[in-house]
Amino acid sequence: MLKKILSGETCAKCRLCCVFDRYDIWETPVFTQELCERISAEKPDVRFMPKDGGYILRAEEFDEDQLFRCPALTDTGCMLGDDKPFDCRIWPYRIMNVGGRRAITIASICEEMYARPLSQLTEFLKEGLAATIFAYADSHPEIVKPYYEGYPVLMFEPEE
Ligand code: SF4
Repeated sequence: MLKKILSGETCAKCRLCCVFDRYDIWETPVFTQELCERISAEKPDVRFMPKDGGYILRAEEFDEDQLFRCPALTDTGCMLGDDKPFDCRIWPYRIMNVGGRRAITIASICEEMYARPLSQLTEFLKEGLAATIFAYADSHPEIVKPYYEGYPVLMFEPEE
């Protein structure tokens, strides 16, 4: 979904957004039931818990570096390929509830995107991505996260 602005090669070298620590564990993606079933078929030990109509990972164990790797992450990338959760397809853009209004923010942990001029980040949203994100969130409100300090707001949802 971001291929025009973020190359697959750049993401393949990084994968930071697929590994979480105790401070950003809330950033794990929201999965559909179908995706949970796909992961469980290959990794039956993975546990999910419901969240507003979707499912999130039950992160019970952190590794020796105090990190939790998404169980869908393999040595060759995400096992879900192009079917990965919507959250992951729009990363590092996020949709959050900012004071009762939905807004698109950006995660600063993605150095590649965060280094871009603000105008480029917002222009890409205006070209259609923002409309896609808000429309998806209409039918999947579970992807809207509470506002988290430090995430710059790029665009508020237009008022009706
Ligand atoms: S579902 Fe795939 S892309 Fe999303 S965090 Fe997990 S491994 Fe990464």
